[in-house]
Amino acid sequence: MRYANTKKVLVTGGAGFLGSHLCEKILDQGHEVLCVDNFFTGTRRNIAHLIDNPRFEMMRHDITFPLYVEVDEIYNLACPASPVHYQFDPVQTTKTSVVGAINMLGLAKRVKAKVFQASTSEVYGDPEVHPQPEEYWGRVNPIGFRSCYDEGKRCAETLFFDYYRQHKLPIKVVRIFNTYGPRMHPNDGRVVSNFIVQALKGSDLTIYGDGSQTRSFCYVDDLIDGFLALMETGPEITGPINIGNPGEFTMLQLAELIIEMTNSSSKIVTRPLPPDDPRQRRPDISKAKALLGWEPTVPLRAGLSRTINYFDHYIRN
Ligand code: NAD
Ligand code: UDP
Ligand code: UDP
Repeated sequence: MRYANTKKVLVTGGAGFLGSHLCEKILDQGHEVLCVDNFFTGTRRNIAHLIDNPRFEMMRHDITFPLYVEVDEIYNLACPASPVHYQFDPVQTTKTSVVGAINMLGLAKRVKAKVFQASTSEVYGDPEVHPQPEEYWGRVNPIGFRSCYDEGKRCAETLFFDYYRQHKLPIKVVRIFNTYGPRMHPNDGRVVSNFIVQALKGSDLTIYGDGSQTRSFCYVDDLIDGFLALMETGPEITGPINIGNPGEFTMLQLAELIIEMTNSSSKIVTRPLPPDDPRQRRPDISKAKALLGWEPTVPLRAGLSRTINYFDHYIRN
């Protein structure tokens, strides 16, 4: 039996880094969670602490196949997010974004659920507008190594807005900027996890290119608060809306900060820059501030400290 204001919430990609934090927060609010994941990059370890909760259910399923369940809200997060993983099987990456979106939108239409899409700052590609506002259409290579992810996510946004216009579906689209925190996969190749693991193990920190490219890093708790705030809004607010932390750092600054914070004897080495690697990235979050009253609260140093503790514990166990 479910209480009157308990929602049943589907989280696809719920065993991943962001998904596991989202499942946890939704359960904390007293709702039921159906976590759907094919365990491509997600792990049972990420959700092990939720399994005994009677309001949590886990289903192994690939969203490129139809899914018939009864839910009130859908958060669609399923998709590998790190370049190493999304380029491993690029056709499956595009299918997950495009066919997966069609299935989740079809499901939302049938059960009349609000549906949320985890889009990405990658829709802006290698941007010539800085910082990036939502109105900017982006500069994306349609045939490069990153295209399976970038174009897949762009097409998913198209589908969300066509279901909104054509079927009056309540949609919520966020464009997530680089996010870090506990439960990132230690080998997933993203810069924060790579540098921390390298520093803790005393190996060289691998900077791609000359390290002058920039990113803006958001701590996971801030990001999830933004997701929940957007989902609470009325149907007139669809997004796309940037969620991220506008603090901008070069990869060299990030490497030096992590070496200092871990007290590591590691050295910095350079490796070739991957193709189409964006030169700079920083969110314009004026919309999130105005529409959601949201802004990030965790500075990089504080977030890194929690993340370093997590990886330190992970490596030792
Ligand atoms: P992640 O790789 O940790 O999580 C993705 C999850 O989706 C994993 O658990 C994986 O097993 C699952 N998955 C992949 N393909 C699937 C499929 N076909 N069917 C079912 N499950 C599938 O990555 P994350 O960082 O948690 O990213 C979550 C979402 O947020 C992704 O959609 C990603 O594109 C988006 N995003 C993340 C960031 C970031 O910085 N973390 C930035 C921009 C966008
Ligand atoms: N779908 C699903 N679960 C549902 C309803 C639909 O997975 O509960 C999938 C189904 O595979 C379908 C897709 O969503 O192909 C799109 O559904 P929609 O109703 O929009 O279109 P149609 O059924 O006409 O293709
Ligand atoms: N990067 C790096 N060393 C690494 C991993 C990544 O210098 O070990 C760089 C990468 O080339 C990019 C930035 O860090 O310029 C962010 O990379 P990440 O894969 O985390 O995210 P994305 O490129 O998707 O923003």
